[in-house]
Amino acid sequence: MILILLGPPGAGKGTQSRRLQERRGLPQLSTGDMLRAAVAADSDIGRETKAIMAAGGLVPDRLMVRMIAERIEQEDCKDGFILDGFPRTTAQAEALDGLLVARGLKLSLVIEIRVDDLVMIERVIGRFTCTKCGIGYHDTFKTTRIDNVCDSCGSTKFDRRADDREDTVRARLEAYHIQTAPLLDHYLKQGIVVPVDGMAVMDEVTFQINQAVDGVND
Ligand SMILES: [Zn+2]
Repeated sequence: MILILLGPPGAGKGTQSRRLQERRGLPQLSTGDMLRAAVAADSDIGRETKAIMAAGGLVPDRLMVRMIAERIEQEDCKDGFILDGFPRTTAQAEALDGLLVARGLKLSLVIEIRVDDLVMIERVIGRFTCTKCGIGYHDTFKTTRIDNVCDSCGSTKFDRRADDREDTVRARLEAYHIQTAPLLDHYLKQGIVVPVDGMAVMDEVTFQINQAVDGVND
């Protein structure tokens, strides 16, 4: 079974991906991790990647595809794998299709974690944490019992992350949609996209993903 999980930052993609990995015993292939590992191991791909990144360039599709091709030959991928962070573009998706076809493999499912942008923004921008004990709060969903006093430790100092600002969150979501729309089109044409409700509670999202995955006969 070969899976792709798509979802914007903050939609719980990491958690769902880990749960899927544990439940199905499939390795999660993160191209970001793989590139870092290749650089650390000083392999051919690693050296080439390092040179490109040092020059401020983007790692070309050709290298990414070669890296994936090598990785899926490994024993732990024999029953399938979960792709994380790849493909990002239609060109990469086409390269991946070619790579799989050449090996007699095919993508089983593309799971799209759908979110409501406005609700996502509301969830993120109200967040604050106690600087002393680290407990998280929210302006609307989880306020302190006494105004400006931490329920847990009594501290009155709180912290808000700079990147939790509305414009930052909005920009992150917009970038995700711009990048993902053509990819979704590509896979919708193949009839393998399954949307799940990313606004549901974490366990419900997991349940929906499991149902979709269990419905595949691979
Ligand atoms: Zn506290």
